[in-house]
Amino acid sequence: MLCLSIVVPLLNEEESLPELSEWINRVAVANNLSYELIFIDDGSTDESWKVIESLSNKNAAVKGIKFQRNYGKSAALNEGFKAAQGNVIITMDADLQDSPDEIPALYAMVMNDGYDLVSGWKKKRYDNALTKNIPSKIYNSVTRRMSGIKLHDMNCGLKAYRKNVIKSIEVYSEMHRYIPVLAKWAGFRKVGEKVVEHRARKFGVSKFGLSRFVNGPLDLASIMFVGRYGKKPMQFFGLLGTIIFLIGFGVGGYLIVDKIISPENSLSNRPPFYIALTCIILGTMFFLTGFIAELIIRNAPDRNHYLIEQKLKL
Ligand code: UDP
Ligand code: MG
Repeated sequence: MLCLSIVVPLLNEEESLPELSEWINRVAVANNLSYELIFIDDGSTDESWKVIESLSNKNAAVKGIKFQRNYGKSAALNEGFKAAQGNVIITMDADLQDSPDEIPALYAMVMNDGYDLVSGWKKKRYDNALTKNIPSKIYNSVTRRMSGIKLHDMNCGLKAYRKNVIKSIEVYSEMHRYIPVLAKWAGFRKVGEKVVEHRARKFGVSKFGLSRFVNGPLDLASIMFVGRYGKKPMQFFGLLGTIIFLIGFGVGGYLIVDKIISPENSLSNRPPFYIALTCIILGTMFFLTGFIAELIIRNAPDRNHYLIEQKLKL
């Protein structure tokens, strides 16, 4: 039985792959851990796939999946999880920012200490403070509060899972940031955290730009909504609609009374007031309509549709 599956999603990381693969092999052999290393090439336009093929020729443990185009880290992870055979599945970024030296301890936490999921915590982080570290701190504190999961670094690429955990959830859209939340909703309880070494990016550049500030919060809102309200959006939005209606009704009533009592000085004589009121109500309605659309798109049954161009040893 295979101890470990190491799942590595990647996009244009040709320079890092040989060193990463060699390092993982060294750690696994030294710790007597049988393993497979699954690279998922998420539509690279550099020579990443060629490098994976040549690594796979040299090392029987190296396997690969090549996507037809870039579908995103979540899709890549999801496909890796489907293919993984090991008792423990460890995910890791391809850019050498996560250290393979952490593998044995993560493995032991799942196998010996009974954790279903262990998330890495980049306590000392080597990224740009303004674009990465500070936003990440804010995002983690919001996610902690909303989800009730006490992790400091929800989105760390280095994580370990018990096999049944990962086989029971599906990662889609941009949900790779919230796998612990998905696992919690799926029913898993013992979630742990381990401080891990983090290194500066050695080659290439970060693949995540500003869009994550839009997609991240929307995904969190969507996942929290689905987790909490499940199949009852009608009740939720119905209640909200009723509240907005009652507010409108109350304000309208007040204006009428106000007009009767002091016809000259009434608030209702001032058009900006009406405009503001209309904008608030319409704005809320549009926002909710948009949110319903997001819920449908993000949670549609065919949300994970991607084409696989090639597979290596899988
Ligand atoms: N990645 C991917 N698909 C994408 C974007 C990124 O597979 O569409 C991979 C990337 O190659 C790396 C990991 O996801 O292995 C984390 O990405 P990155 O290092 O760019 O993120 P950061 O560390 O800057 O948050
Ligand atoms: Mg990185």
